[in-house]
This record gives sequence, structure tokens and C-alpha cells, in this order.
Amino acid sequence: MRQSFLFTRTSKESPKDETSYNARALVRAGFIDKVAAGIYTLLPLGLRVHQKICRIISEEMDAIGGQEVLMPALTPKESWQATGRWDSFGALFKLMGQDSREYALGATHEEIVTPLAKKFVFSYKELPVFIYQIQTKFRNEQRAKAGLLRGREFSMKDLYSFHTDKDDLSEFYKLAQKAYFRVFERCGLLDHTYLTFASGGEFSKYSHEFQTVTESGEDTIYVCGKCAIAVNEEIIEEQKACPNCGNKKLEKTKAVEVGNIFKLGTRFSRAFGFAYTDGEGGQHDVHMGCYGIGPSRLLGTIVEVYHDEKGMIWPDKVAPFKAHLIKVPGDHPGLSKAAEELYRNLEGAGIEVLYDDREDVSAGEKFADADLIGLPLRLVVSAKTMKKNSVEVKRRDEDKVELVALGEIVRRLS
Ligand code: ATP
Ligand code: MG
Repeated sequence: MRQSFLFTRTSKESPKDETSYNARALVRAGFIDKVAAGIYTLLPLGLRVHQKICRIISEEMDAIGGQEVLMPALTPKESWQATGRWDSFGALFKLMGQDSREYALGATHEEIVTPLAKKFVFSYKELPVFIYQIQTKFRNEQRAKAGLLRGREFSMKDLYSFHTDKDDLSEFYKLAQKAYFRVFERCGLLDHTYLTFASGGEFSKYSHEFQTVTESGEDTIYVCGKCAIAVNEEIIEEQKACPNCGNKKLEKTKAVEVGNIFKLGTRFSRAFGFAYTDGEGGQHDVHMGCYGIGPSRLLGTIVEVYHDEKGMIWPDKVAPFKAHLIKVPGDHPGLSKAAEELYRNLEGAGIEVLYDDREDVSAGEKFADADLIGLPLRLVVSAKTMKKNSVEVKRRDEDKVELVALGEIVRRLS
């Protein structure tokens, strides 16, 4: 994409009404735009990252047998009354239709997915089944000051699993844990993310969160250095040692919950009368699990974890583009032509490139923009590099620069 074509621009200064680093950097670099507290527009650069994160999540959910659907965001009061959550889910956004009936904007979808599965599943032969979506969720969060980390409108991947019994649920639960770690690995967060034991419920002692360590996180966790496992502060009084190895020297740190998996047992299947028949004609409640990840929160978390004083530093697989090609305005007859040709060749080879072709912008501003936007590779074509018929290549996360022949670069990056 040509930078001159982008309708958004970077700003010289961070927005004054944002306190979190992720929102300040993302707004300043033109990835997101703030509409109101906890409500943002994803701009072209931000949307590209979001789409990549969603794609990674979908691939990993498909790989464990997930079937993707898209449920409505507008959900009837009756569904929530069936589970008692119309009154107990504090953050529910409620609204009235012209038909004088009440609705809630979906904050989670057990109330919709359980009756859905019930329409198709009757026998043990149809279980297990795994249904997921990536969708906009709404929660009337009290504090929405952490940018994308806590939106009032945000994206969530929510998967729901349906099983004949506890053991089958437990087996899938472990599989889902592994799939989650593959997601965080591909998003570049594996080394910072811990499987964290949190409070369970009626049906299991624990639930599990995936907590990414960052100063800006709202949660406090206690990490076991030996196991790469953590305990959420909320259960540390009951769980003072590592649940895996018994280590009592846990390290206290701030983290953000990027994912959460939970055994629901029969709470929701009972509420909706969702049962199946076994081989002998007996009826049993379906066992359920739920598995959430927030793609928009992940986007903000990546920014919190990967930045320096100049701006963001995107991990390769979620960067909006792989390379930032910069044409430095200068006195060399072949300069413009070489830069244009390089841009075409990179695009032709399927390499995602943001091409700073702007004429009226200084080299200094272009470099500052490249650091702020934070694409993994910076490619510079200038009068100086043209004398050597080459491009200057620099990784965003390294200081080293290297000259590569113009004719070589596409092959190098492919
Ligand atoms: P938290 O404890 O942070 O309030 P939660 O436990 O209520 O989150 P879940 O209901 O389990 O979250 O939602 C699944 C995932 O959705 C979370 O792990 C998180 O990644 C994301 N998520 C939840 N609430 C928000 C929000 N307000 N803004 C952005 N992402 C969110
Ligand atoms: Mg939580």
C-alpha cells in the first residue's frame, strides 16, 4: 500500500485524553480512533493487525475441530432470564425495542449457543461438538481507561464445547489449552504468557486464564519460575504454591488476561433442558466448556509488550505489513524509478509492504513515522544507496543496518 494513499496520518503528539500506552501509541500512529471511552474505530493499519490475529485464532480453533458461526449481537431478554443472568450479569447493556420488548447486547453467548446446539444435537452420536465465533461483544465496563485492553465494545473469540460427560470435556479442555498456546506463540506473546490458575465454579476447582505479563495489566499473578505456570491473586490464599510442582517461591507480577477457559458443566444445558440420549435410551445432561480470547485486547497487549521510546515494534506474524519501504527524497536521477520498481516487485512477490512514496515529507519525518508504526523491516532507497545500486535494510528491533543490492532484495525477503 502507498502511504500517500492512506487517508489516516500519524500525529506529532500523543492524544491527551488517553492514559494507557497502547491507546496513546495506536491513536498517534493512526491504527485506531477513539469515539468515546472504551469505544474505538479500527483504522486500516489497526484493522490489518486485528484481521491477522483473528485469522490465527480461527486456524487454531479449526485445527481442534471448531466450527465457526456468527451469532447475533442483539439478544432477547427471555434468553437471559432462562439462566438468571438478566439480573446477575452486571455489565449487560440493556435496551428496549419498538415492540416494547427488552434486549441485551451480547456480552457472552452461552444463552444463544446452548439453545442453538440443542436444535441439532439429540444423541451421544452427535457429541462432542465445538462451536465458535469471532464477534463484537458489549460490556458496560466501569473503568474503560486502558485503551484496547478494556473496551466497552470489543472483539471476542468465544468457543463453546458440548460433551457427553466430564472426562470428554476434560480431554478437550487440555486440547484447547494447547491450541491457545499456539495462538499466543504465533502472536509473538508465548514467552510473556502464563497458564494461570484462577477460581473455578460449581463444576471444577479451577478455571484457567492466559495472562500476559505487562506493567499495564490490571491483574496480579504469582508466577512459578520453574513451570511457567501462575496463580491468580484471587485464589492465592487458598493456593499458595505452584499447582504443578509445589514451589512456594512464586513471583508477584502484573498481567493482562488475554484468554480464559472454563468448565461450565451442566449449568447452561440444565437451564435450557439440553439433554442427549445414550445407547440404551437413557437421558443425560450435556456437559459444556467455554473458551474465550479477546483479539482486540490481544492487539493492545502486543503494543504494551513490544515498544520502545520511538514507538511500536510488531512481531512478524501480526504486523500490518512486513516491510516499510521508504523513498528518501534526493538528488539522483534513477531514485524514483528504482523505488517504484522495488515496490512493484515486492508486491508482485506477495510481500506485504507499506511504501512511503510521499514527496513533501522529509527523511527525518519518514524515519520517525517508520519507528512509530513499527513494521518489522525498514527498507530505504536514497540518493546515497542509489550510488551503490542498493537498499538499506534495518530490522525495527535491531540497530544494525545493511546494504543489499536492489536486484537481491526481493529474493532475500521471499
Ligand atoms: P476481565 O477479567 O478482564 O474482565 P473476563 O474474565 O470477564 O475479563 P471473559 O468473559 O472470560 O473475560 O472474556 C474472554 C476474553 O475476552 C478475555 O480473556 C479477554 O481477552 C476478552 N475481554 C473480556 N472483557 C474485555 C473487555 N472489556 N475489553 C477487551 N477484551 C475483553
Ligand atoms: Mg477474568
